[in-house]
Amino acid sequence: MQLAMAAQDEQQRPLHILFFPFLAPGHLIPIADMAALFAARGVRCTILTTPVNAAIIRSAVDRANDALAGPAIDISVVPFPDVGLPPGVENGMALRSQGDRDKFARAVQLLREPFEHFLVHNHPDAVVAGSYFHWSADAAAEHGVPRLTFLGSSMFARSCSESMLRNNPLATVPDDPDALVSLPGLPHRVELRRSQMMDPVKQADHWAFFQSVNAADQRSFGEVFNSFHELEPDYVEHYHTTLGRRAWLVGPVALASKDMAGRGTDALSPDSDNCPGWLNTKPAGSVVYVSFGTLIRFSPPELHQLARGLELSGRNFMWVTGAAGPDPSEWMPEGFTELMARGDRGFIIRGWAPQLLILNHPAIGGFVTHCGWNSALEAVSAGVPMVTWPRYADQFSNEKLIVEVLKVGVSIGAKDYASSVETHQVIGGEVIAESIGRLMSNNEEGGAIRKKAKDLSVKARTAVENGGSSYNDVGQLMDELTARRSSTKVGEM
Ligand code: UDP
Repeated sequence: MQLAMAAQDEQQRPLHILFFPFLAPGHLIPIADMAALFAARGVRCTILTTPVNAAIIRSAVDRANDALAGPAIDISVVPFPDVGLPPGVENGMALRSQGDRDKFARAVQLLREPFEHFLVHNHPDAVVAGSYFHWSADAAAEHGVPRLTFLGSSMFARSCSESMLRNNPLATVPDDPDALVSLPGLPHRVELRRSQMMDPVKQADHWAFFQSVNAADQRSFGEVFNSFHELEPDYVEHYHTTLGRRAWLVGPVALASKDMAGRGTDALSPDSDNCPGWLNTKPAGSVVYVSFGTLIRFSPPELHQLARGLELSGRNFMWVTGAAGPDPSEWMPEGFTELMARGDRGFIIRGWAPQLLILNHPAIGGFVTHCGWNSALEAVSAGVPMVTWPRYADQFSNEKLIVEVLKVGVSIGAKDYASSVETHQVIGGEVIAESIGRLMSNNEEGGAIRKKAKDLSVKARTAVENGGSSYNDVGQLMDELTARRSSTKVGEM
């Protein structure tokens, strides 16, 4: 009798999920959105992070809480470990040198202690942990908490990296940067150039790190993806059936955001005040939005060519340059200052831009992007086609998905995986202008790409609505966690 009542109590107590995002805006932002999405389904959510990273997601969490009827989302703030980094340097966006990166890696290890402390004192029903905290697989297992991992990638890119890590296809390919490398075992024929891939010999540390991440993900309860079934169905099937891995697709999580303007920052660029007004003056679909996420840096020659390309394209553009780039005197092409001063064709945002607001404005007709997965999925959700300009990590694989599988983009032809800013391949202004022209044109190619982008946007929105595929995956995951809780905890009594 007592056992039956205890079991009933267990069933009624809301699930409690701890979110432990990796310390970079591209991980924190979707995790805050994901917490909003689970909280809206009655899950008690806590996000464990450090002060600067908490500030980044505070406004998104506050707005989500304002809209909630059930339990609120908490942010549990722990100090950033003292590893000799300057105050305020707490995430990947603020790191400037290899020395900083080494210290940051130490700090990431030291977060194990507050993570375990939370598990011991709060007994959450599950943790959604950033995949890069690969040690959290063992820590969670020691405390009997199921670990769901979040890498923040597409399923397509995750399948590509799994194929690379498992088969090391570079080993049998000539040491020529242009050599084509096939990734075995995938539903489509996927080929990358050698220069577009992580090199297991030249980047041995990275390779070993990703092997550990992949192994830890496989020992976990499962993985959550910011994606949706209808976007990459062959890769959902591949993941579940061929790889035998458990995954739930719960996105696009940005569609759960209640914070279209301030999402992802506590310091929106002052330029952003005027950007909706400027966009309002432009015809529908006439503006190219240009932004490369939170981590990418361009050299002065690259910025010079990008500015030339935007000018040569003849299109309206809104360009996010970030706050901390090289001085404009080092890269500004002749005549560009005058073009900007006229204010009719171009708008520059220095610092943090309200990307969701911009992408969803009817004036936006294309997005020049580095193919960071959040940006790509935000564009898909908004029905905006892309010019793809990948730089490193999963971005070259995401480009393949966008251009070759989904056919909602035009590739700019980037080939250079993660070389240093100073030596990075410089893409000429003419090539940039031509790619923008292809995407924005009214010819058959441009029209077909635009149509596909609009179709996908409808599917994305349907996926997160009541009864949609992502809505259902959230429900199934909650059911599994609830069932697991009842069986383990009542069994322990
Ligand atoms: N973002 C934004 N404003 C900016 C720069 C970035 O809102 O000025 C957001 C963008 O909407 C996305 C995230 O930051 O949600 C960047 O993630 P992504 O995966 O695209 O790139 P990363 O920065 O991780 O390379």
